[in-house]
Amino acid sequence: VYKGPYIPGRVISRHKTMWDVLVSDNAIKAGISGALSRTGKQPVVGDFVVLLKQAELNSHTIVNVLPRKTCLSRGSAGNGSEEQVIAANIDTIFIVTSAGKDLNLRRLERYLTVVYSSGAKPVIVLNKADLTDRPAEAIDIIRSIASDVPVVAVSALSKDGIEELEPYIGPGSTVALMGSSGVGKSTLINAFLNGSVQLTQSVREDDEKGRHTTTVRQLFVLPGGGVIIDNPGIREIQLGDYSDGFEKTFSDIIQVAHNCHFKDCTHQQEPGCAVIKAVAEGFIAGERLESYHALNAELAFQSEKADIGL
Ligand code: GDP
Ligand code: ZN
Repeated sequence: VYKGPYIPGRVISRHKTMWDVLVSDNAIKAGISGALSRTGKQPVVGDFVVLLKQAELNSHTIVNVLPRKTCLSRGSAGNGSEEQVIAANIDTIFIVTSAGKDLNLRRLERYLTVVYSSGAKPVIVLNKADLTDRPAEAIDIIRSIASDVPVVAVSALSKDGIEELEPYIGPGSTVALMGSSGVGKSTLINAFLNGSVQLTQSVREDDEKGRHTTTVRQLFVLPGGGVIIDNPGIREIQLGDYSDGFEKTFSDIIQVAHNCHFKDCTHQQEPGCAVIKAVAEGFIAGERLESYHALNAELAFQSEKADIGL
């Protein structure tokens, strides 16, 4: 029935029944086709989509969502249900923390758990390095809980050190930032954007009825060709059902636990627990095991809720 043409695009932001899609270097508004709507698969920011362009109607309709390379979800439903997907196709997530009193290893473990579950690669960015005399010490502390994760100290304000993040934001790569309010995420993104656009830039378009609409853009193309996704749902992500990521985050404990006497050892007070022994001998920090228990209890609670349909 439709002549097309069919064109590729990438979702910039999502509203209830409308999407902003980047096509070439234009932001356009689009709805979704009835057939796509019936599949229940809703496009999210970062999705690559196929649009049907109907020039005579001056309209674009999303008819397909390409397979997602990575998928960041709010895990609380525990079943990966479509409503919970926040963003797609993020390659790297910068977990931003600030040097000094804000540095919180337990919070970093939570973020790592979420990032690993999404399929994206984590990079820990220690921002506000200018506020500490001993950034190297802070980096060592972080490495003690995440030895496989790159840690980069920067000062977003002065742009000191941000060139070390360039390998992650080259052409063809997509990054997002996660971290508490005030750690400097917006400052860092604006440093990457380097004046090309402002973080708060909105998408202005006329909808199909000719009305002006303004929406906040959540996907930015950087001058160097990479893409940054800045979505409030990513910034404020809560812990949910992220058990795969949990095992990666605590891979040191999981490894040692293979030597526990009981197969179903919970590492609390069982005789022959290899994890408790490793803590006693100083191979694993006591706070780390406490954090493991706290997060594990939270995950169990979340999946119980999902099981009983809450
Ligand atoms: P966000 O909430 O994570 O987006 O944080 P913002 O980017 O809004 O930054 C919060 C505050 O920290 C602002 O006052 C920034 O100027 C400041 N800030 C950001 N980066 C740095 C930095 O590298 N060094 C210092 N000293 N302050 C910074
Ligand atoms: Zn044990």
